[in-house]
Amino acid sequence: MIVCKFGGTSVQDAAAIDRAVAIIRGKASRDPIVVVSALGGATNVLLDIAQKAASGELLVALQAIEQLRDRHLREAAALLIGSAEADEIAEEIGAGFDELAHLAEAFRTLGYLTPRSLDTVAAVGELLSSQIVAAAFRHRGLPAVFVDARDVMKTNDQFTRAEPDAVEIERAVRQHVLPLVEQGNIPVIGGFVGSAPGRITTTLGRGGSDFSASLIGAAVGAEAIEIWTDVDGMLTADPRIVPNARLIERIRFDEAAELASFGAKVLHPSTISPAVQRGIPVFVFNSRNPEGHGTMITFEAPRMAVRAIAGKRDTTVVKLRSARMLLAPGFLRRVFEVFENHRVSVDVVATSEVSISVTLDDATNLDHVVTDLMEFGDVSVERQRGIVAIVGAGIADGSRAIADAIAALGPVPVYMASLSATGINFTLVIDDAEVVPAMQRLHRTFFETAA
Ligand code: ADP
Ligand code: ASP
Ligand code: MG
Repeated sequence: MIVCKFGGTSVQDAAAIDRAVAIIRGKASRDPIVVVSALGGATNVLLDIAQKAASGELLVALQAIEQLRDRHLREAAALLIGSAEADEIAEEIGAGFDELAHLAEAFRTLGYLTPRSLDTVAAVGELLSSQIVAAAFRHRGLPAVFVDARDVMKTNDQFTRAEPDAVEIERAVRQHVLPLVEQGNIPVIGGFVGSAPGRITTTLGRGGSDFSASLIGAAVGAEAIEIWTDVDGMLTADPRIVPNARLIERIRFDEAAELASFGAKVLHPSTISPAVQRGIPVFVFNSRNPEGHGTMITFEAPRMAVRAIAGKRDTTVVKLRSARMLLAPGFLRRVFEVFENHRVSVDVVATSEVSISVTLDDATNLDHVVTDLMEFGDVSVERQRGIVAIVGAGIADGSRAIADAIAALGPVPVYMASLSATGINFTLVIDDAEVVPAMQRLHRTFFETAA
C-alpha cells in the first residue's frame, strides 16, 4: 500500500485532476490510498467568506459563495461529461454551498465566529474535492471510493488545530479504509479534515493535508507516503524567495522536519513524525512533472554540512530577565509551564544565567503569557522579527558552516542564535524585513559559490 496526497494546485481544476488520474493509474498495482486537498485556494476563500459574514459583509460573502460554487460545478461538469454520476455530484456540491450560505447568514446575525464554526466552513473544501476526485477517477475507469475524512481522522476538539488520536485513527482505518483496499478499490479521502468525539468536524491546521496523509500512511503501515505538489521536491530553499533553489534528492527525516518547522511550506511540520515512528519513507513529487526524480526522505542520506535553508517571517520574541533565576532549580520548568498552560508553542530558545529568550510563531494568547511571566521578572516582547535557519546533519562536524552563515549575514543585526542539541539546525533571529535578503545571501554562500 502507498498513500498519495495531492495538494491544492495538484487538484485545482479538471486538468490537474486528470494529471492525478494518470499518476494513480500508473500506481494501481501498489494499492494506492489517495488523500486530496481542497481545490487550490478554496480554503482561503472559505475562511474569508466566514470572516466577511461575521463582520457584517453578508452580500460580499454570498457572492463569494456563488463564485466558489460555480467553480466547483464547472470543474466537476468538465470532469464528468457523460458520467451517470454527474448530477449526483452536482447535487452534493449544491447542498454543500446551500449549507454554507445558511451558515454565513447565521454568522452575520451572531457577529462573531468560533474556532468550531471556522472548522465547519473550512472542511467544505476537502469534503467536496474528495467527492469530485473520487467520481472523476471512477469515470476514468479507476475503482475509487469516497471516504468521509470525519469517519477516519479522529482528533481531539482543539478546533482549527486539532490533535490526531493515532489509536482511534488506526481503528477507523481498519474499519473504513483497509476493507476497500482489500477489495481492490482506491479510497479517496479529504486531507486536513477530521472529527472530534461526537463526529464534530475539526481540522488539523493550515496545510494539514500532508499530516493527514502521513497519519493514514502510518495507520495502514504503508510502504511509502507520496506528497504530490507543485515543485520538483524539497528544494535547497523556498523557490519563491530563492529562484536558484536546487532539488534535494535525498534528505533525512530529522532534517526535513526542521526545514518544515522553520518555514519550508512544502511539508506541514507534523508530517514527518508519524512516518518516522513507522519508518515509512516520504517522497515529494511534482504533479506537473511526474517523471521527475523527486525527493526521498528517510533515516539516512549522504551527510552534508548544509542541506537547505529555511526562513519564516512575522515571528514574536519574548524575553524574560530575572535575577532570581540565578541557581534556582526548576526555574526553566516553571517558565515553560506558562507557555504550556496557554497552549503556546515555542520555536527557538536561548538562555543565559539571568535571561531566557524564546520565539513564538503564533502570538495568540500572548497577553496571558506575558502577564504570567511577569511574576518571574521583567518581560519584553519584540514583534516584527523573523528567523533564518540553516539545516544539515553535518553542521557541527567541524565544518565552517556556522562561521560562514554569520559571515553571510554581514551587518544584519542578530537578536538570538541557537544551535539545536542534535546539531542539525542553526537558527538566527533577525528583523522580519531582513529574512528574504538573508535567505538569498545564505543560499548564495552555501549553494551558489564553488567551494
Ligand atoms: P500543496 O498545495 O501541494 O500542499 P504548498 O503550497 O503547501 O503545496 O507547498 C508547496 C510550496 O512550498 C512550493 O510551491 C514552494 O513555494 C513552497 N516551499 C517553501 N519552501 C520550500 C522548499 N524548501 N522546497 C520546496 N518548496 C518549498
Ligand atoms: N486545504 C488546506 C489548506 O489550504 C489544507 C491543505 O491544503 O493542506 O490549508
Ligand atoms: Mg501544503
